[in-house]
Amino acid sequence: MESLPLIITVAPTGSSTTPRHNPHVPLTPEQIADEIWLSWRAGAAIAHIHVRDDAGQASMDFEKFRRVVELVRERCDVILNLSTSGLYGATEEERLRPLAELHPEMASFDAGSTNLGERVFVNEPAFLVRLAQAMRSAAVKPEIEVFEPGFVDNALALVDQGLLEAPLHFQFVLGARGALSASVKNLLHLVESLPDASTWSVIGIGKAQLPMAAAAIVLGGHVRVGMEDNVYLRKGDLARSNAEFVRQIVGLATMLQRPVASVDEARCILGLQPA
Ligand code: ZN
Repeated sequence: MESLPLIITVAPTGSSTTPRHNPHVPLTPEQIADEIWLSWRAGAAIAHIHVRDDAGQASMDFEKFRRVVELVRERCDVILNLSTSGLYGATEEERLRPLAELHPEMASFDAGSTNLGERVFVNEPAFLVRLAQAMRSAAVKPEIEVFEPGFVDNALALVDQGLLEAPLHFQFVLGARGALSASVKNLLHLVESLPDASTWSVIGIGKAQLPMAAAAIVLGGHVRVGMEDNVYLRKGDLARSNAEFVRQIVGLATMLQRPVASVDEARCILGLQPA
């Protein structure tokens, strides 16, 4: 049987990596859009987007999001997945605005709260209801981010309440400091807790990126890579571009005989409308 094409997501910048971690972390809308374009050419089907302010700090600035989306849409048909993170003090309004006004095909849906490094990543139950409603009314597919096993239960409870709609797409985040560690056993437990017809992808933070990606390729899941999650291509070797991570995964998938999904194949797998 032909195996399911592998969807590669690139997360080029995130909110916590800085040029001190890697001088190639993109910060301006132009740099972020360039990195997405290069990653798309290398085989990424989805771009998970954060923006930075003019000082290079994490931001939910709407105009920066609008600019990145505009620049990317001019150049390629990659699936846009916008962050709704409130990790750096963004208001609920700031977190929701890009959904209704920029119409990404996907956006992150963090289905619970957790410690993350020195911070607490807060996603209160009432906000999750609001976020689910905002995504539904803007026809945005939630990427349900799971930092702890109970987040899966939270998402399933929202399905029971009619707020999220199956089939669900999950993004497991393993190895973040303060949350679930990165092991194949933890990954397998999460995968086995999903309802049938769900799709899933994995993020391994830092040095867990490559082993978690390998596990996902073998288990039939999908993979996210990029400087939001990791800055080293291999031990001691800083990535010079996000596209290098994508090429690394394409190479691994090829070796393991898993085809890589085109953008349209990814849309089909995720139940998104054709472009
Ligand atoms: Zn993110």
